[in-house]
Amino acid sequence: MKLIFLGPPGAGKGTVAADVCKKLNIPQISTGDIFRELLKSGTPQANEIKSIIDKGELIPDEMTVQIVKNRLSKDDVKDGYILDGFPRTIPQAEAFDKIEKIDLVINFTVPDDSIIIKRLTERRICKKCGAIYHLTNIPPKTEGKCDKCGGDLYTRGDDEVDAVKNRLIVYKSQTAPLIAYYTEKGLLKDIDASVNPKDTFKQIEKLID
Ligand code: AMP
Repeated sequence: MKLIFLGPPGAGKGTVAADVCKKLNIPQISTGDIFRELLKSGTPQANEIKSIIDKGELIPDEMTVQIVKNRLSKDDVKDGYILDGFPRTIPQAEAFDKIEKIDLVINFTVPDDSIIIKRLTERRICKKCGAIYHLTNIPPKTEGKCDKCGGDLYTRGDDEVDAVKNRLIVYKSQTAPLIAYYTEKGLLKDIDASVNPKDTFKQIEKLID
């Protein structure tokens, strides 16, 4: 099954995608994770990407589409995948339509920006294994340490409050138009992502079973 998870930052796409991927035994393809991995190379291109991400802006479409194309050339995608965070603009969706046929777009709806701001500014991530925590909703057992591997937890640069606000502006102007785009194609289903990850997962299970 080929799925796109669409929704604003902080809607829980990444957290829930991990569980759905486990259930379906397919890979989770997060363009955000791929870009963060690229940052580690320390090249001039990496520095450029870092400054875009830290401001909460989008990486140029051409480069993003190329990165997704490269990822989809690997063998592990033959039974499907979840795209988490791609496409994020109409030109990306149009370019993607030329290379793949998607089964379903799940639109994570969150009614109130204040929920998103709280979710992101309190999000903590394990440096070692990437596990995601939230200081209020999913706190680690030991402060600052990952329950799963003991790694240190950190706050993403773009989860600082000013970057989060900008990401919401960017989402509304550049990504939200994809809701109409996929609705017209008859591919989009809404879920309520203001609830906890477990209940969000249950709604998705109903759609894909
Ligand atoms: P995410 O982890 O999905 O929140 O993505 C983190 C950041 O990576 C975004 O704020 C963008 O700067 C960049 N990014 C991720 N996916 C895309 C995309 N499809 N198009 C452009 N930029 C992206």
